[in-house]
Amino acid sequence: MPSVKRRVKQWVSRGADRHVRLAVTGLSRAGKTAFITSLINQLTHLGTEPNLPLMSLVQQGRGLGARREPHPHMHLPAFDYDSAMQALHQTPPVWPSPTRDVSEVRLAVRYRPQSAALRAINEMATLYVDIVDYPGEWLLDLPLLSQSYSQWSAKQAGLLTGRRGELAATWTTKAAALDPFAPADEKMLADIAEDYTAFLHQCKAHGGLHWVQPGRFVLPGELAGAPVVQFFPWVGKQDEQALAKAGKDSNYGVLKARYDYYCEHVVANFYREHFAKIDRQVILVDTLQPLNAGPAAFHDMRLAVEQLMQSFKYGKSGLMKRLFSPRIDKVLFAATKADHVTPDQHPNMVSLLQQIVHQAWQQAAFEGIDMRCQSVAAIEATTPGYVSVKGENQRALKGFLADNSPVTLYPGDVPAQLPEETFWQAQGFDFPSFRPQQAPLDAPLPHIRMDKALDYLLGDKFR
Ligand code: GDP
Repeated sequence: MPSVKRRVKQWVSRGADRHVRLAVTGLSRAGKTAFITSLINQLTHLGTEPNLPLMSLVQQGRGLGARREPHPHMHLPAFDYDSAMQALHQTPPVWPSPTRDVSEVRLAVRYRPQSAALRAINEMATLYVDIVDYPGEWLLDLPLLSQSYSQWSAKQAGLLTGRRGELAATWTTKAAALDPFAPADEKMLADIAEDYTAFLHQCKAHGGLHWVQPGRFVLPGELAGAPVVQFFPWVGKQDEQALAKAGKDSNYGVLKARYDYYCEHVVANFYREHFAKIDRQVILVDTLQPLNAGPAAFHDMRLAVEQLMQSFKYGKSGLMKRLFSPRIDKVLFAATKADHVTPDQHPNMVSLLQQIVHQAWQQAAFEGIDMRCQSVAAIEATTPGYVSVKGENQRALKGFLADNSPVTLYPGDVPAQLPEETFWQAQGFDFPSFRPQQAPLDAPLPHIRMDKALDYLLGDKFR
């Protein structure tokens, strides 16, 4: 090929390549690891035997294939796709271990361009998709940036009622006995911080309460054990004016300094370093587990989702706008683990999620962000079918429990509306955890509507 023609071709081809940074978040156990594993798996089968009938790229026969690229950023851990696939192909299969920190993977997706002009010069284009996984708990920390240590403490102290209050007894008893003005007792502060962190974990594990602050305390990643994650809210009795005079080396002064450092170097830094660079965001919400756990857990999940959404509220004078110029243009809310309920309940899952999300969405100024809700099972672990009960066909799910025993059941109805008192009184919703299905090594993972999610998130980029 003459060199001018070749150079034009290279130039056009580079122009045709695109890049998108797609972030996936959700509270822990929402299904991030399973979602990213399935997303990579589905796209890597794009060119051979795609299992993505709802993706327009596939319908148009333009998908050519995808592969993982060398790790793009040295300072970020790589998403461990190989270990995840190994776990899923074990006998019996097990769920991949969740990631606990931010991680990243880059995919190069090859496709045939849509535009005839581009196709005439180059029959292939590449979309580079950087997938970033980060814990949703980190987004719960945004409000800290507009609160002083004393304001934050007052707010947290106000939350210590009911189940939270009971779980907090150990650290609050010790913290209330601290003298704010005495020279800082480092050992005691670390000890109470440890109890406080244990309390946050207990809120999540035993109370089903996910709205915990600071979010980094439960998923500290590389910060584990550092003084910056060794503070707690001030719950001792002292009036604010007196506390403001506490010296910087006092118990109160050290806690306040750690809080300020955490806000500036951990929270703000996350928004500057990671959040600011995201183009599209997936927020995974497990709506089913809180329905299983009861009204307090459900209410708390709503609070947490509302809180997560604050990070997308840019507004002109919003805190986010002051931190950086956000560029996210699409957010997908996905109700995960849809294979835990029969297919007739999927529309209810979506309408429930829409209600959870819309209330917060309507109250805030979201500029230029397109939003969608859908249900998804990243890795389908059950098979829907029917069972005969007293001569009548009833919907049911078949699967295997974690101990490998087969089970057929009807897990219950998902409410289409935010559940009212009567739902909780007549609670018939109950489901176990299923282990993944044994899938053939060379076939794409079974899923529900991953293709619809991919079409929404990436479809317009395959031009
Ligand atoms: P993460 O903490 O957000 O990364 O959550 P994971 O992806 O590790 O998922 C937590 C657990 O939820 C898994 O161990 C599975 O038990 C379950 N899970 C996640 N995705 C699915 C799914 O698509 N179907 C089913 N049945 N269970 C799922």
